[in-house]
Order: sequence, then structure tokens, then C-alpha cells
Amino acid sequence: MKKVFITQRIPEVGIKMLQDKGYEVDVAGDKILTKDELISALKAKPYDAVLQLLTNQINAEIFDAVPTAKIFANYAVGYNNIDVAEATKRGIVITNTPGALTDAVADHTVALILAVALRIVESDTYLRAGKFHGWEPMGFLGADLRGKTLGILGAGRIGFRVAEIMKKAWDMNVMYYDVKKSDVFEKELGARFVATPEEVLKNADIVSVHVPLNDSTKHFINAERLAMMKPTAYLINTSRGPVVDENALVEVLKSNKIAGAGLDVFEKEPTLADGLAGLSNVVITPHIASATFKTRSEMASLAAQNIIDFLETGTPKNIVKG
Ligand code: NAD
Repeated sequence: MKKVFITQRIPEVGIKMLQDKGYEVDVAGDKILTKDELISALKAKPYDAVLQLLTNQINAEIFDAVPTAKIFANYAVGYNNIDVAEATKRGIVITNTPGALTDAVADHTVALILAVALRIVESDTYLRAGKFHGWEPMGFLGADLRGKTLGILGAGRIGFRVAEIMKKAWDMNVMYYDVKKSDVFEKELGARFVATPEEVLKNADIVSVHVPLNDSTKHFINAERLAMMKPTAYLINTSRGPVVDENALVEVLKSNKIAGAGLDVFEKEPTLADGLAGLSNVVITPHIASATFKTRSEMASLAAQNIIDFLETGTPKNIVKG
């Protein structure tokens, strides 16, 4: 009987798919396992496959703990939690869940844009604190979106969907930077490709970050690049925390060098940079951009299907290359 270990509870649909294949499926509890807990759980049985979350660091030590497992299926589209080069060296297959999260993450990104630009959270807090004493002609003035410029950094699946919504809903002009040009951005959105991230940062009214986290994108948005943004501009990050230098971001937000930020991801999750939570010009959510019922179920099905395809045929659909 094939054995699968799942490092934290996921929607039942994925667990059931694996059980229906006749596999023995062990699911850890509801909390994130520490490295030592994960290693000892994996040593318990000769597992054939592991389904892990972005909160599990998967590297040589983990592979050593379960040498029988030749597939590690990530329950995420991003795979910065995995040492893919080490996996490749050992002939271990890594898979992810591309596409399943696109709509949910794009919707959440748009929600952050609206929340910070229209000062939704700030004014909600004000109201709940009993400070609202009547309609104020100059109270909580926010930014207009129609006809403004949206800058996308990382023009992949999520970046495209964000740009499509903002273009259709508010007729925003879209400019983008990516390591490669995107036909779909240009043909479907009339978007303008620019050759450097600096050009986006200097010109966009809203900068939305959608690059994956890897060696080339750590602190992609650093102090120097933040200093290029317009004082009226907003930075939105729903990609990965370390892509933005969070301490540098706190500094520009504190001194109103930019208008605000919307963040779903943080550099040292679950800890926030000093001073971030006290700022009124930032909207923060606890890494929930993919948290819709449908999306989380689809992620579970896709991760399970990758394991099934690997164990049955050796060729899962969503193999990640280092
Ligand atoms: P994707 O692969 O479709 O798009 C990423 C784009 O970034 C690609 O077009 C790629 O060419 C570009 N890129 C890579 N390196 C770059 C660089 N150095 N400079 C400029 N562009 C670069 O991925 P996606 O499905 O759109 O997801 C994007 C990221 O969003 C994921 O990697 C993940 O980290 C993050 N994400 C976060 C959540 C969340 O819960 N907040 C959920 C899903 C995905």
C-alpha cells in the first residue's frame, strides 16, 4: 500500500482523492510542524509521497528523513520553501498548484488596492473608536483610480488578472516589467512593457508586485527603489514578503514618501517589521490571498492529483524546475 504524509490539515477533497486510490494517508494536525517535528513524523514510516505547505522548509535534511519519498507536492504555486536544486540532484520530483489560486489572489490584490486607496480600514477603525461626529467634507479623502497608471511587476497569471480587472473596471493604463515580454498583456490590455522595474516605480500610481521569490527577487523592492515612487503612489504586495525590504517600506510609509501600502505577505512571517502595524496608511492581511473555499479545495485536489499521477504514471502535470 502506497503511503502519503500530509504536513497539515488541508480540505478533505484532497485527502479523500488519495484515500480513494487505496493509499494510506497520514495527516498531521492543524498547526505548523517545527523542523524537528516534521523530521520525526517523516521517519515514522517509509512514505512514498509528501504533501507539504509553504510553511514547511523542504531541503536536504527533510529528504534524508524520508528517502523513500520521490515526490514532494507543494500546496502552493510559489515554491521558494523548497530546495529544488537539491531535489533535482536526488531525482526527487517537486510539484506546485499553478492556476488554482489566480482568481482568488487577484481579487484579494484588488481588495487591498481599494482598501488602502479609499481608506476603508483606516476609516472603519475611526468609526469604531467613536470618533465620527457627522459627515465631513474634508474627511478621509482618498485616491481616484480611473485613468491612473497601474504598474505590474511580474506579468504572470496573477499579475495579468489584476491588470485585467483594473483595466476593465477603472480604465487604468497598464505598464509592466517582467523578465520577458507578454503578448497577452499587450494584445488584451494594451499594456506597455518597460525595460526596467525602475520605470514602473517612477511612473505608476499603483505598483503591484507579483514576482516569485528566488535569489534574483529578494529585496527586489529595496530602499533605493522605494525612493523612486511618487509620493501619491501605493505599493501592493501579495507575492512573497522577502521580495520587499519591509523595514525600508516602514520608513517611507512613516515619512509619507509614498501614499500607502497593501500587504498580504511579510518578510519574517508571522512577525511584522517594527512599526508596521501602527501605521494608518497600510492595510495588512495575514497571508490569506488564496483563502476562498473554492480555491483552497482546488489547491488540495491539484496537489493530490500530482501525487496520484506521479505514483501511478511517473508524470505529474505540474513539475517545478529549479
Ligand atoms: P507566474 O509564474 O505566472 O508569474 C510570475 C511572473 O514573474 C512570470 O511572468 C515571470 O517571468 C516573472 N518573473 C520572475 N522573475 C522575475 C524577475 N526577477 N523580474 C521580473 N519578473 C520576474 O506566477 P503566479 O501564479 O502569477 O504567482 C506569482 C507569485 O505569487 C507566486 O510565485 C507566489 O509567490 C505568489 N502567490 C502568493 C499567494 C498569497 O497567498 N499571497 C498566493 C499565490 C501566489
